[in-house]
Amino acid sequence: MKTDVFALRHIGIREENLKHMLDTVGVDNLEQLIYETIPEDIRLKKPLILDEPLSEHRYLAHIEALSKKNKVFRTYIGLGYHESLTPSVIKRNILENPGWYTAYTPYQAEIAQGRLEALLNFQTIVTDLTGMELANASLLDESTAAAEAMTMLYDVRSREQKKNEVLKFFVSEEILPQTLSLLKTRSTPLGIELVVGNHEEFSFDSDYYGALLQYPGKYGQVYDYSDFVSKAKANDIKVAVAADILSLVALTPPGEFGVDVVVGTTQRFGIPLGYGGPHAAYFATKEAYKRSIPGRIIGVTKDTDGKPALRMALQTREQHIKRDKATSNICTAQVLLAVMAGMYGVYHGPKGLKYIANKVHATAVTLTDALEKLGLYQMNTAFFDTITIKTNSNLVRTIAEKYEVNFLYVDNETISIAVNEATSIKDINQILSIFSEALGKNKIEVTQLKTETNIPDHLQRTSSFMENKVFNSYHSETELMRYIKKLERKDLALNHSMISLGSCTMKLNAATEMLPLSMTHWGNIHPFVPVEQAEGYQIVLKELAKDLSIITGFADTSLQPNSGAQGEYAGLMAIRAYHESRGDSDRNICLIPSSAHGTNPASAVMAGMKVIVTKTDEKGNIDVADLEEKAKLHSNKLAALMVTYPSTHGVFESSIKQITKLIHDHGGQVYMDGANMNAQVGLTNPGMIGADVCHLNLHKTFAIPHGGGGPGVGPICVAPQLVPFLPGNPVIATGGKNAITAISAAPWGSSLACLISYAYIKMLGEEGLTHSTKIAILNANYIKQRLSGKFDVLYTGEKGRAAHEMIIDCRPFKQNGIEVTDIAKRLMDYGFHAPTVSFPVAGTVMIEPTESENLEELDRFCDAMISIRAEIDESSQEQPDNVLKNAPHTLDMTTGDEWPFPYSRQKAAFPLPYIRENKFWPAVRRVDDAYGDRNLICTCAPIEAYADIE
Ligand SMILES: *Cc1c(COP(=O)(O)O)cnc(C)c1O
Repeated sequence: MKTDVFALRHIGIREENLKHMLDTVGVDNLEQLIYETIPEDIRLKKPLILDEPLSEHRYLAHIEALSKKNKVFRTYIGLGYHESLTPSVIKRNILENPGWYTAYTPYQAEIAQGRLEALLNFQTIVTDLTGMELANASLLDESTAAAEAMTMLYDVRSREQKKNEVLKFFVSEEILPQTLSLLKTRSTPLGIELVVGNHEEFSFDSDYYGALLQYPGKYGQVYDYSDFVSKAKANDIKVAVAADILSLVALTPPGEFGVDVVVGTTQRFGIPLGYGGPHAAYFATKEAYKRSIPGRIIGVTKDTDGKPALRMALQTREQHIKRDKATSNICTAQVLLAVMAGMYGVYHGPKGLKYIANKVHATAVTLTDALEKLGLYQMNTAFFDTITIKTNSNLVRTIAEKYEVNFLYVDNETISIAVNEATSIKDINQILSIFSEALGKNKIEVTQLKTETNIPDHLQRTSSFMENKVFNSYHSETELMRYIKKLERKDLALNHSMISLGSCTMKLNAATEMLPLSMTHWGNIHPFVPVEQAEGYQIVLKELAKDLSIITGFADTSLQPNSGAQGEYAGLMAIRAYHESRGDSDRNICLIPSSAHGTNPASAVMAGMKVIVTKTDEKGNIDVADLEEKAKLHSNKLAALMVTYPSTHGVFESSIKQITKLIHDHGGQVYMDGANMNAQVGLTNPGMIGADVCHLNLHKTFAIPHGGGGPGVGPICVAPQLVPFLPGNPVIATGGKNAITAISAAPWGSSLACLISYAYIKMLGEEGLTHSTKIAILNANYIKQRLSGKFDVLYTGEKGRAAHEMIIDCRPFKQNGIEVTDIAKRLMDYGFHAPTVSFPVAGTVMIEPTESENLEELDRFCDAMISIRAEIDESSQEQPDNVLKNAPHTLDMTTGDEWPFPYSRQKAAFPLPYIRENKFWPAVRRVDDAYGDRNLICTCAPIEAYADIE
């Protein structure tokens, strides 16, 4: 065993297991299996040229050395990003804890009650601080959340009036620049006309359906928007506000002056800056719009016994169901970051948050007072934490940089300074020295913070918030540590057992890949610092982009999109810009096979394209004849084909090259959904099959953990003709020569998370990556073989092989009264998370083991499935009181004095011997989705509800 070869740690299968597995599958060697799986004409002929792999030890030294190339200045740039203090108890017990970061989106609610509760806390904090009725959990960043508000209000208006001819959306010039850029991107394809201006001079006329304001404004001015909002209401204009979450502790919440939507980031609730992300954005609105809210909403419901339970509510709004009728494509969000921000609220409570907000405000007031004593003019008449200074000295910047301090230089004579939770009196004095030196004046020193407020009475928050028990209980480290553990124990994550979710690629998220996320020199870098200060990041991001381009066989990569769905949207927008650049602005038809993931049609519609669904044949392949007919029919208007490869059916279609050529012959571009890239790396690639652009889900194939539903990173890799259109950023130059406007708020998206994929590639190298792909394919085919005869695999390639995942058919069991959900819930009793349920085919499960699982675990999973198969045979429609219908079985049930079921407790909870050693108890019985949707509750219970407990 070579202990310094990372591949041997990443891959679960040992050399000595191979023979048994290959025999089971029925091949002589791995090469034969790959030969039988991947069509010959798309196999790479030469190995990818990547760096030699580093051992874990060497990688850690390498990444730490690189981190030192980032200069951590005292940074007061603001613009939606502020240094914040991550409580160590949260860092250690959540960010650095696989029990939290390796979990999946909580679709299986019974084994996800912990993170569901953490997310309900997040929603409650947001609801209370914004003064709104309902909040989701969560969105990708403040700017995309603002764009979601713009489109949701448009959608609401269209529905209220049956059609919508009012297309203007007003945007205050106080909006953050990155948000404005993103609104441009998102409004253009939908035909929404943005009008940017001064909200005080806005003419309220019937051409507008909505407006967006920034609170406080981008340079810190706090406006009283109540007048604006009432006039807007009178004119049937809906109003959204992008608000700084910490300021809402001190300022009148927007809900109290009647707005329709409030959005923002929760980064400053204890989340590292990370050179732009990942951070969770929030979206709060009125109950009336609940069916239009983008993203996930956690709601309260009950389980079979009538006990309270949580689950994701209102799932019928999701793009998976609505497809091209969806108004948002949000799938992966920022769950881990929302959990952390929520815990920040739990730890500090309302009193702690008030202390922090007051201190931040006092810091700004003290600084202003002292700067005024130096003779400077501070422009904001009311502010929370950001002040704006007029000065005719042109020395400030040079001196500030000498002291390693960053301000925001608005123009030649305007400097904006945003202070934060970490700003100390020493920092104030440093800022004062910079200005006194620049002005050639004597130094002044402050020794304590001033106590008066600069916020006018009528803008001060008077309402209480976060009065629930959960926010007033866990204020010592011991208490919070135990609360976090209590929640963690309710959740099944990869540190318990395999999570074989097809399409989601739940592989190892190695500790060495994760550790650098905790380093200050990676964490504490603002996304808008001059690039010279972020040299370490620039090296990592360039290398990662280069390696991903090599792996995909493309010319260049943009790391900006922060989820796969955002990547789809970015790729389609690049295609749109390409066609337009050639005078082909009529090309707006997007062909999408019926088996595509729901985000595909949703993204296409957002990009202003018209979706035409093409058929799949009985073998699950794209029906080439149907595709050809439709491509011909729409030849003049064909913009793109979106194709997933290997297909969502888990098959390498052999006609893929013919398909991509066909699209090109009709003037279209080929978008490849790269969610299944784990079956390709090193063996074939999107360039090879003839695609023009693909997104990658770094949180699937490239080892970023799923975090319970995010973060995600969804870079797009493109062929040469699309390179000029890669997305830009209005503050920091990035992207192509003719860059499209922003897709995410930050220039390089979630840079901090990119470190994980960088580590993954640098430690595996070409050989490790390629071997991982082969083993992923072997593991899938091994499971397929072991389950054969018990379950039918729906689709296979021409030589009978699955790719890296397979779909098994559960529809025949309906004759025994058993639905696919019963199987998913019963797997919990066996200690497993269900595979993907009912995607892409209803009534099936899709199993993807990944290369990281070991043989014993694969066997345990197969044993569980085979045992469940026997239980299905014992079940019948006439006797629904059976072990499958009653699953999952909780500790409460199993140890209760009453046992009314016609099978033993042993059978219920310990159906196979291995379970004894590693039992996982679902926290609740089966949850009732419909009940919760009828009685929607999306915040923690008010404190009164606990009255009788205490
Ligand atoms: C996961 C997935 C997506 C969406 O990716 P997100 O990162 O969740 O937005 C798109 N297509 C397929 C096939 C997927 O599996």
